[in-house]
Amino acid sequence: GKIVPIAGFPVHETTRQDLAIHLLTTLHQHEKISLLFANSNFVVKCKSLLNRMYNDSVLIVNDGVGLDIVAKCLHGGAFKANLNGTDFTPYLFCESSRPLRVFMLGAKPEVVEKAAEHVEQRLGQTIVGYCDGYSGLDDPQMIARINQSGAELLLVALGNPLQEEWILNHRDSLDVGIVTGVGALFDFWAG
Ligand code: UDP
Repeated sequence: GKIVPIAGFPVHETTRQDLAIHLLTTLHQHEKISLLFANSNFVVKCKSLLNRMYNDSVLIVNDGVGLDIVAKCLHGGAFKANLNGTDFTPYLFCESSRPLRVFMLGAKPEVVEKAAEHVEQRLGQTIVGYCDGYSGLDDPQMIARINQSGAELLLVALGNPLQEEWILNHRDSLDVGIVTGVGALFDFWAG
């Protein structure tokens, strides 16, 4: 689809359905993709990571009205859809013809544990592992653990800009099809 530059970030204009199809196709073809949701906070906090986001495997989509306003002012039109990890992740699960193998990284220990239970029991996916976001994030063992889990989807919930930084730093070492930064999603799932 079209790329709309917002504060220098290449933001892809897409719909949730096209995005889900694209991700599942990518997974099927054993390609890697990093999905980043850009809201106003992202644009401000991730500025220093901008150059590293010009990479074929990085897909930035718009999240929230902040970017719509910018798009309207600069380009004369809003985005086709408002995408965010909280709504899009369960949608992706629904669009998949089979349960996805999911690894969850981030949030406090009791939060990620409850959220993992939610994903397995309520959302019908296969949790292959989870870990809180406060210890050993950059240890080689962490990467090995995720790779050995056989995850197809890695949800990284560390907030901006930590999650984006972590994803960009480790993407090449991760044998995972889809890696995405989901902010406070685990807190939401944990209730
Ligand atoms: N988080 C984490 N490790 C950190 C900082 C934050 O795992 O070092 C988690 C935090 O527990 C929460 C999520 O990241 O589940 C989002 O944090 P926050 O609400 O601060 O970020 P935002 O939603 O503003 O992006």
